[in-house]
Amino acid sequence: MKIYSYTNLSKQKIEDICLRTLEDDAAIAERVGQIINQVKTTGDQALLDYAGQFDGVKLERLFLDEQEIETIASEIPQDAREAIETAYANIRMFHAAQLKTEDKIETMPGVSCWRESRPISRVGLYIPGGSAVLPSTFLMLGIPAMLAGCEEIVVCSPPQKDGKTNCYLAYCAKLLGIKKIYLAGGAQAIAAMAYGTTSVPQVYKIFGPGNRYVTQAKQQILASGIAAIDMPAGPSEVLIIADRSASPAFVAADLLAQAEHGSDSQSILVSTSTELIAEVMQEIDNQISYLPRATVAAAAIANSYAVHCENLQQAMAFSNAYAPEHLILATEEFEALIPQISNAGSVFLGNLTPESAGDYASGTNHTLPTSGFAKAYSGVSTDSFLKKITFQHITPSGLKAIGPAVEILATAEGLQAHKNAITIRLKSTDGY
Ligand code: NAD
Repeated sequence: MKIYSYTNLSKQKIEDICLRTLEDDAAIAERVGQIINQVKTTGDQALLDYAGQFDGVKLERLFLDEQEIETIASEIPQDAREAIETAYANIRMFHAAQLKTEDKIETMPGVSCWRESRPISRVGLYIPGGSAVLPSTFLMLGIPAMLAGCEEIVVCSPPQKDGKTNCYLAYCAKLLGIKKIYLAGGAQAIAAMAYGTTSVPQVYKIFGPGNRYVTQAKQQILASGIAAIDMPAGPSEVLIIADRSASPAFVAADLLAQAEHGSDSQSILVSTSTELIAEVMQEIDNQISYLPRATVAAAAIANSYAVHCENLQQAMAFSNAYAPEHLILATEEFEALIPQISNAGSVFLGNLTPESAGDYASGTNHTLPTSGFAKAYSGVSTDSFLKKITFQHITPSGLKAIGPAVEILATAEGLQAHKNAITIRLKSTDGY
């Protein structure tokens, strides 16, 4: 892991090391374009063919129904069932609190404006399932979709070797009241939800992480204008700000937790103590050998770095420039730093709050902006599944109050018909 000194970094160098290169592989883009086209033209048949080609299974049917989900879900071990229920309750409680009714605002006497939320009626959730099936992602997307009131929640996940899904995903479906799981993975699943096939319903917005094929397919679907997506996605990342109050072992564990996601993940350490940086490096060496995914984690750590800062203000300045998906404040002074955070997806405060808690079960969402998109994007929330519709109502006295301003502005813009729409009403309400 390379170590930089913040004081010696030029503005340009900070920009350079904060830059994450988004995967832009022309071969993958071309392949994904072909897959999307194939699904568009041959629908279910393409999904069946790709399941054979990429997932190695010959499917008879492209979905599991309620009865099959129930049977698979019944195989879940007791401890896993309880853990999923704990996560479900916390995520539900946190996301339910986001459902708020806004006040009506009387902007002028007789002129009322307000917003109301309506669910996006059809949404698609992609639950990755290539190297591992991810029930946590199912909860993180399914719970806000359910709370928002989305009528149709289409769930796609790659078929496993037995042509089904696993008991964890099936149990999540049961908790969420989802009655079908479509057995499609990769770019073909994204295309199926965007365009619809005989089996897979078409949706208006597609959510969920995935590998390079999934990410590329979501970008192409967004560009084609056929469906919306949750957010652009790149490899996962964490930035940890740690001072002498931090435990080197805890910090190393958190850096490795991120690193085991994939060799392109980044684990950034920003510290006010050179001794702590050295101790964390030592701890990484100690802990990594025990990890089943040590090779992946080692590649990610090699792709990461540490920054030594003179004080926590410098550390925050660097973090805001990096705009991490996950920010851990491993310092007892975290309260004072909160107001200084301007760019981050999700923040973990103090020495006993690891990212893993938020990844699975504390309540916050784990679908977050990566690659510096935290400068402009928020993570998935209940709002991501809602549209906000504005309303207004004008009374006769309100029309008199606002009318002249609208007439003058419409005239200034040369839009006579706009002016007339007011004038004709003002004349008709003269008698009020
Ligand atoms: P996946 O479900 O994303 O992809 C599996 C599918 O990829 C297969 O079903 C197949 O259709 C397709 N595929 C595989 N090889 C292909 C090829 N050669 N050509 C075309 N398509 C092909 O599962 P995965 O591969 O395990 O990847 C999951 C990803 O999701 C990981 O990169 C992980 O880091 C990411 N993830 C991110 C978050 C987050 O919140 N940021 C959360 C969970 C997972």
